[in-house]
Amino acid sequence: MSGSSCDIVIHGGGPVGLSCAAWILQKFPDAKLTLLDRNPVNDADLANTDGRGIALSHGSKLLLDTIDAWPSDCADIHRVHVSQAGRFGRALMTREELAQDALGHIIRYRDIHITLRKALRTIQKSSPHFSWQHIGKDEQIHIDARCVVHAEGGLFKTQDWVESGRDYGQSALVGLVEVKNAVPHQAWERFTSEGPLAVLPSHYGNNILNLVWCGSPESSQKRLDLSDADFLIALQKEFGARIGRFLKIQDRRLYELGLNYRKHITQHHEVWIGNAAQTLHPVAGQGLNLGLRDAFLLAERLAGVFSGPQDEQSSAHIQNALEAYAQSRQADRKATIGLTDFMARVFTSNLVPVVAARGLALSALQWLPPVKKALARQMMFGRR
Ligand SMILES: Cc1cc2nc3c(=O)[nH]c(=O)nc-3n(C[C@H](O)[C@H](O)[C@H](O)COP(=O)(O)OP(=O)(O)OC[C@H]3O[C@@H](n4cnc5c(N)ncnc54)[C@H](O)[C@@H]3O)c2cc1C
Repeated sequence: MSGSSCDIVIHGGGPVGLSCAAWILQKFPDAKLTLLDRNPVNDADLANTDGRGIALSHGSKLLLDTIDAWPSDCADIHRVHVSQAGRFGRALMTREELAQDALGHIIRYRDIHITLRKALRTIQKSSPHFSWQHIGKDEQIHIDARCVVHAEGGLFKTQDWVESGRDYGQSALVGLVEVKNAVPHQAWERFTSEGPLAVLPSHYGNNILNLVWCGSPESSQKRLDLSDADFLIALQKEFGARIGRFLKIQDRRLYELGLNYRKHITQHHEVWIGNAAQTLHPVAGQGLNLGLRDAFLLAERLAGVFSGPQDEQSSAHIQNALEAYAQSRQADRKATIGLTDFMARVFTSNLVPVVAARGLALSALQWLPPVKKALARQMMFGRR
């Protein structure tokens, strides 16, 4: 099906596409912008969708605050405890030593999604040339646009493109777990022989925590199929007693994990952002944080071009602006993709030297404050 024409079309109404639209319109309300969104029109129809807990950094909070899109249902992280199952080496990061109000925030995916939709609707009221079109799941619409933004996102192995990357042979089992007398605002990351296992605060209260348990696809499927009682026994065995007693598990779901990224994120008048540009392993909680930075910086460029004089809106100027955008994202993308890939590989290796080095690295993190601060800074703000 063919639609009308506009200056900018964004394909994808997930968190990255929505925030990019909101930032463009905030900076330039007259933008001739179309958003193609495959999600339902009513927020109520998203109420039971993806409830996995997403860790957002302080940097992402600052960005989302600018469009009034920070969800109210949010849990703050004050401490992160990192350890490896059955081996030496552990580290504790606290908000005090890093002089931050919080080390991060945990929010359900659907709450981020719905809050962004509401924020965009508010901005839409003063954006006369903005068109938000909801399309069917398999519907294809062609809109002529001078700039095409791809924010179709997607999960590893569900995307219709594969470029550079790595299949870690891992899945993540996520769910909500109840723990007796959990330490408030504490996140736990434990590296097991099969992959990272994280237990993170949730807005449901101190004792209900988000679980992300990475393992081989086979083991993860078996864990998904276990009865609740057997699952809790297996989890307790992997985690030990430090965290407290696991009492209840609910909402178990599986996600396949891997790295898929584009080397070139622009081509002519097209640009790719968020998961459409890079899909990461969740070990460092960086995918959406990086995607929001993509969206914000691209919006700045596009608003600059389309609010400028007509003679600076030629195809060549648009292409130059996209190339400058790609250039400006290089360092952050490289650092974030590299750090995540490193963590996903090193923290799952069972080779003896790697295990020993991992223990030393965790100890170094504990005893070398500058290293800890540098890592925390990258994870909280990305590289600019
Ligand atoms: C288990 C797990 C845990 C994670 N934890 C974290 C974390 O702690 N911190 C973090 O920062 N990140 C985390 N991530 C990554 C994060 O979920 C993604 O980076 C983020 O969702 C990317 O947002 P997006 O908008 O680019 O894509 P998506 O969230 O995939 O949204 C894309 C949207 O576009 C729509 N769409 C698709 N095709 C089209 C089309 N042709 N036309 C129109 N619309 C279309 C889809 O319906 C969807 O709504 C995690 C991922 C997983 C799997």
